[in-house]
Amino acid sequence: MDLGLKSRTALVCAASAGLGRACALALAKEGVSVTITARDRDRLEETAEELRRLTDVRISTVAGDITTDEGRAAALLACPNPDILINNAGGPPPGDFRDLSEEDWQAALNANLLTPIALIRATLDCMITRKFGRIINITSSAVKSPIPSLGLSNTARTGLTGFVAGLSRQVAKHNVTINNLLPGAFNTDRLRKTAEGTAKSSGREVDDILAERAAANPTRRVGEPEEFGAMCAFLCSAHAGYIVGQNILMDGGAFNSTM
Ligand code: NAD
Repeated sequence: MDLGLKSRTALVCAASAGLGRACALALAKEGVSVTITARDRDRLEETAEELRRLTDVRISTVAGDITTDEGRAAALLACPNPDILINNAGGPPPGDFRDLSEEDWQAALNANLLTPIALIRATLDCMITRKFGRIINITSSAVKSPIPSLGLSNTARTGLTGFVAGLSRQVAKHNVTINNLLPGAFNTDRLRKTAEGTAKSSGREVDDILAERAAANPTRRVGEPEEFGAMCAFLCSAHAGYIVGQNILMDGGAFNSTM
């Protein structure tokens, strides 16, 4: 299927690895010129080189922390009027809420609520003028089914979900869609790091924890980032203008519900 995205431009945040990288690659394969951001310049450039080898579109990089004013300004300077915005940033740390400081809460709200809203604010009106825009927020399955140790994530991401629910319906008439993609367990550095944390506190092997996680899923595996990227590219496609304000859960069926 031709997704109708050739010559479009995309800003993909936090994309040197994992799900952000997969979204950038899937879009680039569809002919989208992509600007990717991440904090670690070397890793970002390595990823950009990989994407250039795999595709024939322009891949630009912006090194910086997307959760800061400077990081966002640099990203928007490099890609001021994207047709497509993929909001992503690292997830907040786990912990009992009694141990969390005011700073921990501010950091989580900044990274996973205020940063995506700031980037939407900076790019939305140009999309409306152009009569085409696609915004995807990478959130988490925690929005549908809270993860007890991730109170920061549960809270900040649910706030973003509420914001998107309202705004998306106001801009859909301009062929600008805003949707959230909710990953369950995907095979990325973050999944491994989380398993390493559990291994440390439980004295178990990381690989055993990952295998157990896969075995508990209806698919008997975790998701591959390429699968996530493909869904992201479709939601950004010319054919997806009638998908508005949705929360698309990709978790292999782990969330047990009838609808
Ligand atoms: P990852 O750790 O594999 O990759 C994160 C990417 O974001 C890297 O490129 C990193 O350099 C970049 N990054 C992180 N913080 C940044 C910042 N402040 N500014 C710029 N770049 C930054 O993570 P992932 O697994 O791809 O997860 C992406 C998002 O999805 C995270 O918010 C994560 O919490 C969420 N999520 C992931 C899973 C999963 O199983 N992988 C599940 C649920 C939610």
